[in-house]
Amino acid sequence: MSRIRFALGLITAFLSLSIVSLAFAEEVVVYSARKEHLIKPLFDAYTKETGVKVTFITDKAGVLVQKLKAEGKNTAADLFITVDAGNLWFAAKNGLLQPVESKVLQENIPPHLRDPQNLWFGLSVRARTIVYNTDKVMPLDLTTYEDLGNPKWKGRLCLRTSGKVYNQSMVAMFIAELGEEKTELVISSWVKNLAAAPFSNDTKVMKTIVAGQCDVGIVNTYYYGRLVKKDPSLPLALFWPNQDGSGVHVNVSGAGLTKYAKHKKEAIKLLEWFSTEKAQNLFADTNMEYPANPKVKPHPTVTGWGSFKQNMINVAKAGELQVTAVKLMDRVGYK
Ligand code: FE
Repeated sequence: MSRIRFALGLITAFLSLSIVSLAFAEEVVVYSARKEHLIKPLFDAYTKETGVKVTFITDKAGVLVQKLKAEGKNTAADLFITVDAGNLWFAAKNGLLQPVESKVLQENIPPHLRDPQNLWFGLSVRARTIVYNTDKVMPLDLTTYEDLGNPKWKGRLCLRTSGKVYNQSMVAMFIAELGEEKTELVISSWVKNLAAAPFSNDTKVMKTIVAGQCDVGIVNTYYYGRLVKKDPSLPLALFWPNQDGSGVHVNVSGAGLTKYAKHKKEAIKLLEWFSTEKAQNLFADTNMEYPANPKVKPHPTVTGWGSFKQNMINVAKAGELQVTAVKLMDRVGYK
């Protein structure tokens, strides 16, 4: 009798276990530093296509990293999504991510836009380029990032604060390419050309250029897209620098599988889906960014800004050299 009861107990336990795992198998939990209005359409499309539920929370990258750290093995998060390779690198460095060996991701995401250890993958590309006042500057006057330190731009350059990770990553990438000494000369020459103290965001940089307080600046193209969408008559245009050299500085928004993911298989499937054509357009177009998958075309508005050669240095360098970059900017008085 007790043997039968034991066997029945085992069967019940097995059944309830499978029901539990079945119920959970249809879900992926995402921590996202990418804003809700940019990622929710993506999750909705995925659920519609596959029936898999995507539960998510959004917050600042730093807050989510601390949350992942504090939760450790008990975290509910399967995927971590954030902007900037510097942030992805930081999460990886803190042991919060695990590698994903996926043929789909290897094929869809170029090597320079993903972590060399496959701990994270870029999913959209953000170009940080030169913007200028079309009433005051001719495209012929512009050539490279480095040239913005030329005395001819004295009192004509506007920049965003060095406290923003976008600039830290950009300077880190310069260090990777030019070395620390040469980069220091470039950034210090920029500081000498500043027309005003650095601004808190890219939009303010462009508004100051429009207002005539400066003539050139450096911004992420999607901020340009947003501003010009509101008022197409603004005397602003983008310029693609370093086209005879190493190309335009790019960064990514991307994602990685968390170290303690409870829905590993499902999370990898979602990550792979992010890299496919339909998802790539959803991921990039809502914020006027560039798809990371080179087989996918950007939104027509974005294509209208012209094509450019992008810098092929691995964006992981943005993280590796970030501390060096911050110290360098501090040394030359870039606030
Ligand atoms: Fe941004």
